[in-house]
Amino acid sequence: MEWNRTRRGFLGCVNSAVAGVGLAGGTRRAEAARQAVEGEDYYDKLGVTKIINAAGTYTALTGSIMPPSVQAAVARAARHPVRLQELQKAAGEYLARQLKCEGAMVTAGAASALTLGTAAAMTLGNRPAIHNIPTDVSGLKDEVIVQKGHRYEYDHAIRNCGARFVEVVTLADYEAAFTARTVMTNFFNAAEHGEISRQDWVRVAHSHGVPCMNDAAADVPPISNLWNYTQMGFDVVAFSGGKGMRGPQNAGLLLGRKDLIAAAVQNNNPNSDSVGRGMKVSKEQIVGMVAAVDWFLSQTDAAMEAEFRRRAERIAAQVKAIPTLESQVAIPNVAANAVPHLLLRYDPQRVKIRPAEVMAELRRGTPSIELNPMTGRKAGAGLPCDENTIVVGVWMLEPGEDLIVGRRLKEVLGKATGA
Ligand SMILES: *Cc1c(COP(=O)(O)O)cnc(C)c1O
Repeated sequence: MEWNRTRRGFLGCVNSAVAGVGLAGGTRRAEAARQAVEGEDYYDKLGVTKIINAAGTYTALTGSIMPPSVQAAVARAARHPVRLQELQKAAGEYLARQLKCEGAMVTAGAASALTLGTAAAMTLGNRPAIHNIPTDVSGLKDEVIVQKGHRYEYDHAIRNCGARFVEVVTLADYEAAFTARTVMTNFFNAAEHGEISRQDWVRVAHSHGVPCMNDAAADVPPISNLWNYTQMGFDVVAFSGGKGMRGPQNAGLLLGRKDLIAAAVQNNNPNSDSVGRGMKVSKEQIVGMVAAVDWFLSQTDAAMEAEFRRRAERIAAQVKAIPTLESQVAIPNVAANAVPHLLLRYDPQRVKIRPAEVMAELRRGTPSIELNPMTGRKAGAGLPCDENTIVVGVWMLEPGEDLIVGRRLKEVLGKATGA
């Protein structure tokens, strides 16, 4: 941080000095032309620190980086106006074909997909109700059944429609929970708790004629998860576009039954009098999401896993001389972020720095590095970590960054051994 500020100050002085001497008009014009094509670096202009993401697809770390083909498709889409509804429809039909489901739409992220999926269930066959949610739901079915162990922060996306939760624990509870007001059930695909299986969840809901939503936001790879849950019978499934699929951060997918997707579309922009109007999806997001799906479908699970393992091994190789340090590559045993992570465990008696301090040290350094937030924490998120373990998320690293992360870890840990 300090260093960045100093550097900016220094460069600022150099720039004013050069301006004082007087940049030749031609040079200035050439620089302006270059910026017009490449784009000005607004992170630099705004003084925002660029980071190395050794954490994962975290919203607060801006999710993921769009692959070059996706960035180019977004830039190209930005050059032309189109009719938004025509684009939504064509994109939805294309995605449904590619992802082997009846219907699909691009949403403003998975949380938005959850809101629109709920709105769809509440307003199916009742267009006037679109104007009434979330404040006037008295005449509508508004109960959403959920397992107690599946309650989470994204409940809010469902509550945005004015829906209420009915909690169940056992399969018998579940069977008894359906009433005339039940509108939907929700399943948190990456939940660590909950005793009712996906198959039972869908079967029982359908025996009552009630649709099931599945939040699988962070649950690719494997690539086939994009159709596994719709094919299992879930009526609508939500995915985040800006996580493993590496689309725009504010994009996502709602996949599923044709009638429900059509109802979700009615609850979205450009329809202004709707719960989804504040979740506008632009032409750049729609095209970016479709291009990201194309990119993701061109990958293979095996090649992605092999590449992530190579990155982990390159980092582990750089720190292998640190006393007591043991490295392990682990894939979380929950559905979310199921890719190789590097775990570095050491004896804090010998390496005298806590993992949390290592994390802070890497954040303060240049370049600034973010480690996985499970660093120094007891087992969770499906990872066998503990208070003496550093967790490196390697899948969002750009080429060459694994070496920088390895070098910084070696410096910081090495210093703490007194070496
Ligand atoms: C990330 C996440 C979301 C939200 O996804 P966005 O695309 O950021 O809206 C919802 N549910 C779960 C389980 C998630 O992990």
